Amino acid sequence: MTCAALIVAAGKGLRAGGGLPKQYRNFAGRSMLRWSLEAFEGSGRVGQVVVAIDPADRAQFDAAAGDHAAFPVSGGATRTASVRAGLEALAVRGAPDHVLIHDAARPGLSGSTIAALLDALETADAVAPALAVADALKHADADGWVDADPPRTGLWRVQTPQGFRFAPLLAAYRALAPDASFEDDLAVARAAGMRARLVPGAIALGKITTQEDHDMMERMLAPASPRVATGFDAHRFGPGDHVTLCGVAIAHDKGLLGHSDADAGWHALTDALLGAIAAADIGAHFPPSDPQWRGANSEVFLRHAADLVRARGGRIAHVDLTLICERPKIGPYREAMRARTADVLAIGLECVSVKATTTERMGFAGREEGLAAQATATVLLPF
Ligand code: MG
Repeated sequence: MTCAALIVAAGKGLRAGGGLPKQYRNFAGRSMLRWSLEAFEGSGRVGQVVVAIDPADRAQFDAAAGDHAAFPVSGGATRTASVRAGLEALAVRGAPDHVLIHDAARPGLSGSTIAALLDALETADAVAPALAVADALKHADADGWVDADPPRTGLWRVQTPQGFRFAPLLAAYRALAPDASFEDDLAVARAAGMRARLVPGAIALGKITTQEDHDMMERMLAPASPRVATGFDAHRFGPGDHVTLCGVAIAHDKGLLGHSDADAGWHALTDALLGAIAAADIGAHFPPSDPQWRGANSEVFLRHAADLVRARGGRIAHVDLTLICERPKIGPYREAMRARTADVLAIGLECVSVKATTTERMGFAGREEGLAAQATATVLLPF
């Protein structure tokens, strides 16, 4: 038995935001359409894949498909017209025994759903994944006044892909009036007398329509991987009238020596963020031998590390900093340090912790030869 897939991706779907049709928007690191292409390819049970697109979106389709062997066809003004165009393209390319018709806006397709559908097609003409309705059902008028309480027994929410014996479905579509429009392909098949059966669906197969759907499904299908890393730094005291820690200038009877502004707090934090994405250390990104960093504001280093985390698709969940010195006293400046750090990292104040301790006059910090800082950063990266 041969099986082809037809993905319907011709809609404009702008409600999910982002300015692009939703099927081409980034979904957890790759285009939403690509998720379905990879599911069909990875199943090992689907030969060719045809995608019904709006010809105006050809460039987005090519970028989304990448090296996947998917054949684009021009869709129509309605979903029904797009499916009809896709089926005709498959007929020309060598009619398969079975076809799975899928919405590009459902990225959570799994190999087990594909297998269950194809197994069910051995005894049915048409199959679809479906979830039992769990909520009570009401019918209401346009103003929200309930006028009926239909029973939910025997009612199902039907998803895609929907699978069909190809030849009778093609015949059913060819027999439709040119302006016919159906809510799904199972309805077309049943209207033509094909016997349809449901198999267990999946919450992950939910359709993405709004930005809220998009965010929720992204969290479900691509949960984040937490990375925790530490950083440490120390600078020696020298002549001066202030020290800069976490971007806050504090009057003091000494200054801190260093190539940049010697902000040990933000240096330790920069290293922690770089560590969370395994991107070497502050010295590798900003060599002390490079004169352009002489006296530099350490905000540049911290901002760079945060940008690198975001470029990896990561999110800074929390940072925790400990400043180690006898003097100056940190307490009066703690909130200003938190605020500056939260501002540079573009995260909430509640995600930034600044603490201070002494070493009971032991060691270099105790003798006030210098001060030290250690930091921990927690970053959430996409899997
Ligand atoms: Mg340093």
